[in-house]
Amino acid sequence: MSNDNRTGWLEGPQALCVPRTTPPRRYNLILLGAPGVGKGTQAALLSSRLGSCHLSTGDVFRAAKAVEPAKRTPAISRALRAIERGELVSDEIVIELVRERLACLRCDGGFLLDGFPRTIPQAEALDAMLAADGLALDGVVCYDLPIERIVARIGGRRVCEECKAVFHVEAQPTAREGVCNRCGGLVVQRTDDRPETVRVRMEAYTRSTLPLLDYYRRRGLLCMVSADGEPETVYARTQHALAASFANVSG
Ligand code: AMP
Repeated sequence: MSNDNRTGWLEGPQALCVPRTTPPRRYNLILLGAPGVGKGTQAALLSSRLGSCHLSTGDVFRAAKAVEPAKRTPAISRALRAIERGELVSDEIVIELVRERLACLRCDGGFLLDGFPRTIPQAEALDAMLAADGLALDGVVCYDLPIERIVARIGGRRVCEECKAVFHVEAQPTAREGVCNRCGGLVVQRTDDRPETVRVRMEAYTRSTLPLLDYYRRRGLLCMVSADGEPETVYARTQHALAASFANVSG
């Protein structure tokens, strides 16, 4: 089961996006965690097994980067410059980008928000958007990993420029150096995964995103999950944590 047809999310409201299946129940989830903790990998697994769409704001910006500079809006150009520096994009731009994609939050399959919200104002804006549509969050999963493990993960992470498959120089190398196993595309290091940028991203996480844990804990929505281990091990933990909140999490 997969609703991983994210055209509407990646390209914006003018793009049509038809979910392939309607899962037995919708899950409205947020995935939190420091950069490099493996949220994207878990989101892809959850999406393929629960049927909810993986909505990553970072992926929207990466898709926008593929558009030639002259055709980018000033807001997107400002956002891409902030990302290059490892800084957060302004709340105003990110909230507007999500607001334009409200249809994705209403999708029958539910949603797995990855990378949004990242600040308290973003969380408040999301609450208002959901409330206006009569929607509610089911849970917030926060992935946890010691900082030295995160640094090792990010330093070795490589991403296919074409299909976005993720590799790791040691844990999950490509069969041919620099060539994607899945589609043959070029496999590179994300510019924001370089050491100097990672430091700025970690600071932004500690300053702006950590306060969200209390925000969601107070609402009884937070599940902490250790991100240590293989993706399937972490997935099993996630399933377990969600099962404590939902009667029947399958997949
Ligand atoms: P990610 O792939 O989620 O790590 O996002 C990559 C980069 O995009 C981040 O380092 C930020 O610069 C920017 N970004 C993505 N989502 C947000 C957000 N919700 N708020 C601010 N900046 C964001």
